[in-house]
Amino acid sequence: MSIATGTAPRHVLIAGAGIGGLTLACALRRAGHTFTVFERADALRWVGAGIIVQMNAAVALRRIGLDTAVASAGASPTDSAILKPSGAAITRLPIQKLQRELGAPMTCLHRARLQGVLLEHAGAEYVRLGLAATGFRDDGDGVTVTLSDGSTVKGDALVGADGLRSAVRSGLLGDAPLRYSGYTSWRGISPEVPSVRPGCVSETWGRGARFGVVPIGFGQVYWYATLNAPPGGQDAPGTTRVRLQEVFRGWHAPISDLLAATPDDAIVRTDIHDRPPVQRWSHGRVTLLGDAAHPMTPNLGQGGCQAIEDAVVLAECLSTDADVARALVTYEQRRRERANQIVLRSWRLGQMAQMESPTGRFLRDALFRLVPSGLAARGVKDLVRSAA
Ligand SMILES: Cc1cc2nc3c(=O)[nH]c(=O)nc-3n(C[C@H](O)[C@H](O)[C@H](O)COP(=O)(O)OP(=O)(O)OC[C@H]3O[C@@H](n4cnc5c(N)ncnc54)[C@H](O)[C@@H]3O)c2cc1C
Repeated sequence: MSIATGTAPRHVLIAGAGIGGLTLACALRRAGHTFTVFERADALRWVGAGIIVQMNAAVALRRIGLDTAVASAGASPTDSAILKPSGAAITRLPIQKLQRELGAPMTCLHRARLQGVLLEHAGAEYVRLGLAATGFRDDGDGVTVTLSDGSTVKGDALVGADGLRSAVRSGLLGDAPLRYSGYTSWRGISPEVPSVRPGCVSETWGRGARFGVVPIGFGQVYWYATLNAPPGGQDAPGTTRVRLQEVFRGWHAPISDLLAATPDDAIVRTDIHDRPPVQRWSHGRVTLLGDAAHPMTPNLGQGGCQAIEDAVVLAECLSTDADVARALVTYEQRRRERANQIVLRSWRLGQMAQMESPTGRFLRDALFRLVPSGLAARGVKDLVRSAA
């Protein structure tokens, strides 16, 4: 379903050309609005990692005509599994069957391919690089954003799609510290190695550590690793792979092979943070989306997916309400509870998955093993159906 424009075209200022900002640009363009995206970075360098665009995000992308383009930029898995370091399954989910039942694809892809698709449909000419949003003023009849070069630009609405450390959020809600999860992460892209099981997305749970394997098509595999660690840690250049080989020594194939096949300097390390949910993220003509609004830990693979859902709903609201401020309130009301619930669920899952105590891990694994796969599948179905 495409967005029917029931209002005059708007000019929307978007801070941030990440997944959320670019999806919003695509949705606004399709609906006949104009927009300018301001991106702090002076070039769009996509992080060397993959991403899973889950079925609920595919449903949202379908509403702006991008589901097929995104699906063809990656690989669709057949099944997913949570494994023990030995390789034994704790639980499995039949993803191919679920995709058929729900009529929506799950796509595992390189972030560069996802953002390439979004940039192509948004129009690179509308993205102004090397300009950060540093402040804004809601003038009542419009909103004026101040940029890092000192210039100002006026539009009908300002959307902070500027990520975890959003400047627009600081201006709207004040500064509050991020919440550190207790674990850090590493991500990499490896060429396909023979020990990878085609079509299977897996996450292996050990003692305060996890390893994920995600085939992304085009002869590549995305992998990620987590480890309990104090915040702010850094790896000395050239030491990451050796360290990870040590942490995951003795774990099942293809973990060691994937690490060995990934250049050390292409591994990205990121401490995992979120923010406790808030009840308001819009004020007047200014709102937030994606990580700026509701940053979440990546345990449910939903941060980018929720940014996509936000973007599609926001464009719909701006297209159906003649009053911009009211449209932003409606957007927030449609999105808040769902996104905030996922923030909380992701946090809880992460705390469970990163457990160190042997008893806790034994009970956790038993619990996950005993949950019937039908029940786990129902959770996925609910998330997808409620996105429609
Ligand atoms: C290890 C890991 C794995 C993940 N896996 C998944 C997954 O499988 N599936 C999933 O859906 N999500 C996943 N995520 C989450 C996902 O990456 C984020 O939720 C998503 O990127 C958020 O998109 P965004 O557009 O809100 O923000 P971002 O992608 O952070 O984009 C923000 C953009 O704004 C720019 N910017 C910053 N400040 C300013 C400013 N002041 N002015 C202008 N521009 C600015 C930045 O340069 C950036 O380009 C994962 C995250 C991590 C850390």
